[in-house]
Amino acid sequence: MILIAKIVSIDCNLKCDYCFYHRWNQNSNRLMSCGTLETLIKEGCDYSPICAQFIWHGGEPLLAGLKFFEKIIEFQNKYRKNGQNIVNKIQTNGTLINEEWAKFFHSNQFGVGISLDGPKNLHNTFRKYPDSDGSFDATWQGIQILRQNGIIPGIIAVINSANVIFPQEMFEFFIDSELKNLVFNPAMIKDDISGLPTGIVAKPTDYGNFINRIFDLWLKKDDPKIEIRQIKSVVHALIGGKYRSCRFKSECQKYPTIECNGDIFSCDGDEQNKNIRFGNIRQGLNHIFSSEIYKEYRRKIQRLRISCLDCQWYKICRGGCTRDYCSRSQELPKNYFCEGMKEVYQHISDSLKYYKILPL
Ligand code: SF4
Ligand code: SF4
Repeated sequence: MILIAKIVSIDCNLKCDYCFYHRWNQNSNRLMSCGTLETLIKEGCDYSPICAQFIWHGGEPLLAGLKFFEKIIEFQNKYRKNGQNIVNKIQTNGTLINEEWAKFFHSNQFGVGISLDGPKNLHNTFRKYPDSDGSFDATWQGIQILRQNGIIPGIIAVINSANVIFPQEMFEFFIDSELKNLVFNPAMIKDDISGLPTGIVAKPTDYGNFINRIFDLWLKKDDPKIEIRQIKSVVHALIGGKYRSCRFKSECQKYPTIECNGDIFSCDGDEQNKNIRFGNIRQGLNHIFSSEIYKEYRRKIQRLRISCLDCQWYKICRGGCTRDYCSRSQELPKNYFCEGMKEVYQHISDSLKYYKILPL
């Protein structure tokens, strides 16, 4: 179980065009209270006695301030069990990182994920400050400060209608910058009225072509240090390996999001289920995870994939990310990226056969 904590709720210093949060007020100084934080950490440590995993998220989690993060460490030291491993990750836009933050992350072994959509012109297309200025320079500076302090961050790039046609430029930019731990998630923002993806979202086959091109470039580079989450997941699924990111698991219930008031919701990425509230952290995780509403959510995730069960790629794909499902009024919701992802599964499978990693 990985606990995703939205410590400042949806507050953020940026206003990216594809962020579904910016429909609401993102500037309201919300912060998880000390009491809620302590309960969250105690519950996380009690529930996963071998390895407790926390992702510190927002909005922009660095808005919580360094003192808040020092409290995280204090409570984790208080509730850590004998021999228990605690993993901390933070997902940030990187613009607020300074020497103090970098030193803190390094000395407390935080995994740092930065949102960066490619080189400056592509990143700045949609990732902007509220006054419409691009955020690339500040994010890039944050990455350099991390590097100087011995941290090489992972990168989450959001693939959208602007950068999807530049796979080679994207790949070369990241690899030339020695950023080799990469995730290429598709943007998904839906029109309020039609419920369908807006023009910012990449077309399904464009996204499929993008991932396939990235796969070919990765293969050609032949550098074992390059790790691309989508490609690693698909390759592992095809050859019977263990690694799968959540998008290929159909287990969204295992990624609960804890709001700054302690309310627990289904995965934050799962926009269409954002109203499903499982309860509050004060009720205890054991109580929440055995509740009927939680079990019903798990069944709902499975029901959403009913039309996938006949698909030849189901064992690899498991229906993809719940957030990507949408429908025209009367239809059952379907995974918007299905068509493109089928091309990805076919292409990677053909390549593994060509190299005799999979039987013909
Ligand atoms: S490729 Fe499409 S139909 Fe097949 S499992 Fe994935 S989402 Fe479902
Ligand atoms: S909704 Fe998407 S991002 Fe969230 S757990 Fe499910 S697959 Fe992962």
